[in-house]
Amino acid sequence: MRDPIVFLNGAFLPEPETRVPILTHALHYGTGIFEGIRAYRDARTGEVRLFRAKDHFDRMRHNVTFLNIELPLTSDELVQVAAELIRRNGLTTDVYVRPLAYKAAQRIGVGLPPEDAFAMIALPMGLYVDTEKGLHCGVSSWRRIQDNAIPCRAKICGAYVNSSLAAQEARDRGFDEAIFLNETGHVAEGSAMNIFLVRDGHLVTPDVSQGILEGITRDTVMTLAADGGIASIAERPVDRTELYVADEVFLCGTAAQIAPVTRIDGRIIGTGRPGAITLRLQAAYDAIVRGAAPARPGWLEPVGVPQWI
Ligand code: PMP
Repeated sequence: MRDPIVFLNGAFLPEPETRVPILTHALHYGTGIFEGIRAYRDARTGEVRLFRAKDHFDRMRHNVTFLNIELPLTSDELVQVAAELIRRNGLTTDVYVRPLAYKAAQRIGVGLPPEDAFAMIALPMGLYVDTEKGLHCGVSSWRRIQDNAIPCRAKICGAYVNSSLAAQEARDRGFDEAIFLNETGHVAEGSAMNIFLVRDGHLVTPDVSQGILEGITRDTVMTLAADGGIASIAERPVDRTELYVADEVFLCGTAAQIAPVTRIDGRIIGTGRPGAITLRLQAAYDAIVRGAAPARPGWLEPVGVPQWI
């Protein structure tokens, strides 16, 4: 079997040649910023296209400033690296691309040392969570980290300890996913996805000051909802119990896509089945990412013909 090809510090290398020294700062202190980008296969043409890759790299460009990291290339160039990585790995299915910019200093001691590194990997990826049955979620006993502790809008590697604790606790308790409350007790998000609720045909999601990642799928959902005649879209604080009385709840994210939630803390949400608005948004999302409906300019980037080296 061919070794996967990885992009590391400007070179496309076979994965076994990309060892990370054990003293690497990011490994000890979580000083890295990552992204998650999907590319979808168009079932009719077989073409694979990156979805909103430039927006992900633009977000990463903002986020790396939190850790005094500089990205080595422009967002447009990074989109082309992602496409080339997919081609070089000969991937022709749905793909997940993981860029990672991190502190590479090999010294003991906290701080933000100047040595930066940049890696990108591309893997085949199907579902991250079930998007059909309706997820059973539990409100986590772990609180979402605060912006003035570790900003969660920044996709900082170390911040995902918070997500990992909540996700594992949820699984250990028999739930599919966790829902985080923030330090004010309001709903924040899932472990790696944003959350929406539907009330009387209106869409509601926690605003960006509630301790959330400013999700690109969240933005896509709001765009699709506005295009699709949803009565209104509100970004505002959401109480835990407002989730219990919602008609519909769904989670969304690059990996998770749009995933209906049908139970929270054991309580049935709405009818107990994926809701009509959730299903409509899901279908619109699927049609766009797979090229069956027109996307906004710049949202889809064709990867091109796979190659093997
Ligand atoms: N919240 C968190 C904590 C996440 O890690 C993610 C995944 N990137 C999301 C929300 C969803 O963001 P996006 O739609 O940009 O993938």
